[in-house]
Order: sequence, then C-alpha cells, then structure tokens
Amino acid sequence: MNNRKDRMIEEYIHDPYFSKEKYEEPSVCEICGVVFHDGVFKWEEAPKNAKKMVCPACRRIQDKYYGGVVELSGAFLKAHKEEILNLIKNEEEKEKNLRPLERIATIEENDDKITIKTTYEHIARRLGEAVHKAYKGSLELNYQSGAHFLRVKWHRD
Ligand SMILES: [Zn+2]
Repeated sequence: MNNRKDRMIEEYIHDPYFSKEKYEEPSVCEICGVVFHDGVFKWEEAPKNAKKMVCPACRRIQDKYYGGVVELSGAFLKAHKEEILNLIKNEEEKEKNLRPLERIATIEENDDKITIKTTYEHIARRLGEAVHKAYKGSLELNYQSGAHFLRVKWHRD
C-alpha cells in the first residue's frame, strides 16, 4: 500500500530542494498550491492550519535548476507541431496528478525544434517515451550526474 509513497520519498531525498526538515506539516505552496502532508506532496485542499512555503518544484523553476531537458526535432515535428504539443501537455497533466513535483518548467519553440525543460528527470523520460510511442522516430536518453539529470532527444525526419 505504501510502496509508492516510500519510493517518492526515496527519490526526493537526494534532492537539494527537498528535505523533510524544511517543510512543516501541513504546509501549502504559495505559488502552485500543492500541499505537503504526511511526508508527501499532494494535490488536495490545504488544511486551515497549513503554513505557507514554496515547494521544491516551484523553487527549481524559479532557480532554473532543471532535472531534465527534452529536445524534439525534425521535419515531422514541424508538420505536426500542434498535435505533438498537445500530447506533451496531456502527458504533463497525467504525470503531475500522479507525482505533483514532476512538471514542465519551460517550452521553447523554434522553427523545427521544441525544447522542454522539466523539474525532474522522470517526467522528461515520460514525455520522450510518449512522443516516441505515438510518432515513432528515434529516441535517445542520456542520464547525467548520477541519474539526477536526463537529456532526451527525439527526432523524426
Ligand atoms: Zn509549488
């Protein structure tokens, strides 16, 4: 039952932006509204006594301290940009519901390239895999700095 919760704590324990001591129970992020309660971040109504804080995801976005980058490129992308961006946004929504700290920080669009920066590596992987599954092409995943940063490249001509 508690497996998912334990795994999430384990994952964030190495995060310089996450230490249980820093967040009081219960507390609520004044930027995104995520609640820290029972040792995990979750989307729920903030309890009345919740203290205000800035969650690790919002801190990372403010500091531009990203956990992943996804680079999409190629002629196919250029021809299907809206469709692919919609897929990306839907995947982010699903991931964020499951793991509230996994988010897209920025999306940069150029002519035939999209660069997405994410708060953590897990969502970068999910986005790359979703695009690859839906549209084929080639996918490369490169973990860096002890698996805490992921560079994803997807390309289709
Ligand atoms: Zn937040």
